[in-house]
Amino acid sequence: MQKLKGIPASPGIASGPAYIFQETELKIERKTISDPSEELTLFDKATKTAIDQISAIRAKAESETSSEEAAIFDAHAMFLQDPTLIDAVRQAIEKHSINAEAAVHEAVETHAQTLENMDDEYFRARAADIRDVGRRVVCILLGIDEVDLSNLNIPSIIIARDLTPSDTVRLDKNLVLGFCTAEGGPTSHTAILAKALDIPAVVGARDGVLEISTNSLILLDGQKGEIIVDPDEALQLEFAERKREHETRSSEELENAFDSAVTLDGFEIEVVANVGNLQDAQMALERGAEGIGLLRTEFLYLGRATAPDEDEQIIAYDQILDLMGERPVVVRTLDVGGDKELPYLDLGQEANPFLGWRAIRMCLDQPDFFKIQLRALLRSSPGHDLRIMFPMIATLEEVRRAKALLDESRDEVCADGATVAESIQLGIMVEIPSVAVLADQFAKEVDFFSIGTNDLTQYTMAAERTNEKVAHLGDACHPAVLRQIRSILQAAHGEGIWVGLCGELAGDPEAIPILLGLGLDEFSMAPTSIPRAKTILRRWSKAKAAKLAEEVLDYDSAGDVRERVQKAQPK
Ligand code: PEP
Ligand code: MG
Repeated sequence: MQKLKGIPASPGIASGPAYIFQETELKIERKTISDPSEELTLFDKATKTAIDQISAIRAKAESETSSEEAAIFDAHAMFLQDPTLIDAVRQAIEKHSINAEAAVHEAVETHAQTLENMDDEYFRARAADIRDVGRRVVCILLGIDEVDLSNLNIPSIIIARDLTPSDTVRLDKNLVLGFCTAEGGPTSHTAILAKALDIPAVVGARDGVLEISTNSLILLDGQKGEIIVDPDEALQLEFAERKREHETRSSEELENAFDSAVTLDGFEIEVVANVGNLQDAQMALERGAEGIGLLRTEFLYLGRATAPDEDEQIIAYDQILDLMGERPVVVRTLDVGGDKELPYLDLGQEANPFLGWRAIRMCLDQPDFFKIQLRALLRSSPGHDLRIMFPMIATLEEVRRAKALLDESRDEVCADGATVAESIQLGIMVEIPSVAVLADQFAKEVDFFSIGTNDLTQYTMAAERTNEKVAHLGDACHPAVLRQIRSILQAAHGEGIWVGLCGELAGDPEAIPILLGLGLDEFSMAPTSIPRAKTILRRWSKAKAAKLAEEVLDYDSAGDVRERVQKAQPK
């Protein structure tokens, strides 16, 4: 038996066999061969097997996700029928007597590099796809059975060095009991997705977890960050009991989740959800969300071969807005970069992606691309309480430029004869310290703020949110972050605008009383956190919470803040 500790990322208890997800490092040797015809036969067979594999994955993707995701695999199969590629491989084998795997690898690399050098973004983005397909064929030729998440066929706990947000989106919820990664932090987008999917998860558990063997029995506690390998019977019983307790408490809280969160002194607090797609929005309603405080639109752009066009985006927004009816829906414009990469958008290599060409910075530099999203949002707005929010704002100039592009988009939509909702609230994320400091100036430009504590904390503490080695620095309960929240609220309320908070802190049981005490207007969180959050809000009076908040803002560490709130928490 072995006990390992990681960072809690998504609550819940899981037990089951381990499934180790690790990309194999391919060693491709270039050899001179004596019989090219035999090598050609191997190549033809491998291509055929690859096409069969791709069509099986395509069928699975279509039944479990959407036809857009499935279309990626159509493109993959087409690469393997591309005469340019096939001829290059055949020539290398026939004329230069090179072994098939080296010939495939070289032809794919040449082709990928040509695509990467093209001006057209669409073609540049195809390079990643073609490398993926090439890797598949090389693995078949080398007889390597690639561990692939799509091969998972029994319910398991996934163990991985790291999972990208795209890997996580593609996880089959019925087969993934939980996951544990060696790397990553609790506010990484992978962790956020785990919470959205309601999958218990532990991240940043360090390299020790990679030594776990496939099929070992694992117990995982996503609340405490514990992973037990090959547990004894006593621990298995203890975890079964924890699971029961967690489920009983969750179902009690769920029963009351549809009532509003009214504090003991009669204040009704707005509790809304962070979502990434229609399924999340459905789940949010089932968990008592009163609206959407953050629609992360980038998740509509992930896991596909190309960016969604205006019509596709309208369909996606309409579905979510129709589902939410008259409830408020805050849609955040595209926030890619950082830990969210899109294969078809070339963001370039950056030394510090979280400090780089992210979100609004990239969108303002590519106004035509950005306006596709703005027009789609405006066209979807009639009849709904749609609110538009810009991410990663650092300067007033950015807010003004984004507003000007929104105005241009509105003119374009109206010139086409389409209608746009009369009033659309406009807000910004407050997640860069420059905005927190000058909040009074920004408050004059917009209708609302939403505080993004995930980024605000990483930028305040200079601790990257996906790096487990500095995760201890990235606690948003640090008074350095809490004091900024206080001054943002004071500045915004002074200008008469409302403030939400959509970082992970809003759903954190130990932070909720402090945020209530500081006067936060709207709490936005993962749908799964809503029932718990409402329960906690109902146990506090705003007056008592305000006293507690003032007290802990004078503390000097996040640990002390948490300990104090834990002691004060009414049971
Ligand atoms: C945040 O930074 O707190 C936030 C909500 O945005 P994201 O997590 O998507 O960066
Ligand atoms: Mg952010």
